[in-house]
Amino acid sequence: MKVIERAPAKINLSLDVIGKRNDGFHEVNMVMTTIDLCDRIECTALDTDQIKINSSAAFVPEDERNFAYQAAQLIKKKYNIRQGVMINISKEIPVAAGLAGGSSDAAATIRALNKMWDLKMSIEEMMDLGAKVGSDVPFCVIGGTAIAAGRGEKLTPIASPPPCWVILAKPSVSVSTAEIYRSLSLSTAPHPDVEGMVKAIENQDYLKICALLGNTLESVTLSKVQEVSQIKEHMKQMGADGVLMSGSGPTVFGLTRYESRMQRIYNSLKGYCPYVYAVHLCGGMEQLE
Ligand code: ATP
Repeated sequence: MKVIERAPAKINLSLDVIGKRNDGFHEVNMVMTTIDLCDRIECTALDTDQIKINSSAAFVPEDERNFAYQAAQLIKKKYNIRQGVMINISKEIPVAAGLAGGSSDAAATIRALNKMWDLKMSIEEMMDLGAKVGSDVPFCVIGGTAIAAGRGEKLTPIASPPPCWVILAKPSVSVSTAEIYRSLSLSTAPHPDVEGMVKAIENQDYLKICALLGNTLESVTLSKVQEVSQIKEHMKQMGADGVLMSGSGPTVFGLTRYESRMQRIYNSLKGYCPYVYAVHLCGGMEQLE
C-alpha cells in the first residue's frame, strides 16, 4: 500500500521570543501560516520491520536524524506496528531555511501513516505525537494560519490572511535555528506587535498585515548573513508591500497582491539569489488536495 501527502512550508508573519525556559526552549508568541511550496511524502508499506528514508535533496539525512524517520518510529512504537515503511521525500522546500521543511515532512508522515495503518488518530493525537519530534510539527499537522505559543506547540487556529503572492528568496548559506537562538539577546532585540497582527488578519486588512510584519530573530540572522538585508532592501525597491525574514532565516519573503509586481520582484531576484520562489498563502491542507 502507498499513501502520498503534501508537506507545505510555513512562514511567520509575526514572531516574538518572550523568554528562555528552564527546559532550554524559548517561550514564543507567533503567527504562522502555510504557503503552497510543498515537499511530497510518499509512504510505502514494507513487509520487513524497518524504516527506510530516501530524499531527493542533498544535506537531508536519510537515517534516524530525519524528522520523518523519527515520526514513523514514534508511531510504530506507540501502536506496536510490525510492518515497516519506505518514506520517499521529494524536497522542494529549501533545507535549513526557516520554512519548517523538516517539521512539515514529519507532520505529513504522521498524516500518511495514520491513513496507511488505519490508526484513527485524532488531529490532537497527531499533534501531540508531532510535538515529540519538534516544536513546529503540531502546526504543520494542521496547517492554515494559527497563533503559536509555548515553544510553538500551543496553537490557536485563526482565519487566513487575505490572498496575496509570496515571493521567497534564500541566500546560498543556511543557518542553524539553535545557533540563532543561542546568539539572541532578549533585552536588545525588537519585539513585534503579535496582537496587532492577529487583529489585522481578523479584519482582513492586507496593508496593516504588511506594516506589522515583525520577527525578533531577524536582527540576529541579519548580523550573520549580510544577504538578508540586501534581499529585504531589494524586494522593497521592487515594490513588495511588506518584507520579513521567516523563522530563524535566512529566507526572506515579500508580499504583493499584483501578479505583475510579483513577476518583477521574482525576475529581479532570479540569477542574483540561488533559491527564489513565487507562491500563494494557502488556507489549509484541504486547499492542497
Ligand atoms: P525551522 O523553520 O522549523 O527552524 P528550518 O526550515 O530552518 O526549520 P529544516 O529544513 O527543517 O530547517 O532543516 C533543519 C535541519 O534538520 C537540516 O539541517 C537537516 O539536517 C535536518 N532534517 C531532518 N529531517 C529533515 C527533513 N525531512 N528535511 C530537511 N531537513 C531535515
